[in-house]
Amino acid sequence: MGFPQIVGHPKQLEALRRALAYDRLHHAYLFLGAEGVGKQTIALGLAKAIHCSVTVGDYCGECADCARIRDGNHPDVRVIEILAGKKEISIQQVRQLEKELNFRSFSGKKKIVILDPATLMNLSAQNALLKTLEEPPKNSLVILIATTVGGLLPTLRSRCLRVSFGPLPRNLVAGFLVAQQGLKTEEAEFLAAITMGSLGAAVKIDKQDLLAKRQRWLKLLMSLNASNYRGAMDAAEDLASNKDDLREFLDWACSWHRDQLVYAVTQSPREIVNLDLMSAIQRQTAQRDLETILSVLSQTTGAVGRIQRNLNRRMVMENLLLNTVG
Ligand SMILES: [Zn+2]
Repeated sequence: MGFPQIVGHPKQLEALRRALAYDRLHHAYLFLGAEGVGKQTIALGLAKAIHCSVTVGDYCGECADCARIRDGNHPDVRVIEILAGKKEISIQQVRQLEKELNFRSFSGKKKIVILDPATLMNLSAQNALLKTLEEPPKNSLVILIATTVGGLLPTLRSRCLRVSFGPLPRNLVAGFLVAQQGLKTEEAEFLAAITMGSLGAAVKIDKQDLLAKRQRWLKLLMSLNASNYRGAMDAAEDLASNKDDLREFLDWACSWHRDQLVYAVTQSPREIVNLDLMSAIQRQTAQRDLETILSVLSQTTGAVGRIQRNLNRRMVMENLLLNTVG
């Protein structure tokens, strides 16, 4: 395991590896990007590459140093996360970090601190960290990890070299799920698309559960028709009974209707999310004109907004299902 096994982000990795090779790493980085795209994996990879006792400019993942970094007990590498039961990263945690950065490194290499997510530092913690970054201890490296810059002091941000990580391409996430988790290609494609380029989310998601639910949802949507008023009302009540499940259903329903729109326009499986349901998409698309597909999609996205604004879930769903049947 080394940099070449990290999924995606070739440019960012290349820049970091070059800085490492020429001993020109910045003393503070801000890694920005959506949840689950690999920011902490890359920060830890960099820490391993600095400390690995086997490989130069990369890491082996197996030596004592790499293993201790992976297990979170390397004396020169600290990951600061939120403590159990707390809502913020406190000033005490940052002060401890500062103390450790000032100790001499055990190995003579860099002392490294990774803060994840940095946005959970409260204001006094950020101010304390700012002081540390204004006069960085010799041979120290601080990596802040965040999904957005909102919540971070501008003065703190400006002290860090920013590296942005975009969503991972769908084929990379799907390829990883097939190779590492033994998923079927089409299911892997669906999970990669529905998690929008977040490998972390795709790995964490309960796949069998989601796939089973989707079968149920599909059956439900297919069974709705104008003459079955009672069926639509029952389905609305059932779906509305749990807010989290309802959000999941609506997110999927948007992807389902969007797939029909994409297929109706392009007649091609490219960009289809529910790729493993291609024959059902073709059937549905053949039965509906473009105007109907567009109207159903816009009513479904509208329902997502109404649920977010906390409108009565059952009424929103009754409206949606009765208006979009047939
Ligand atoms: Zn190693």
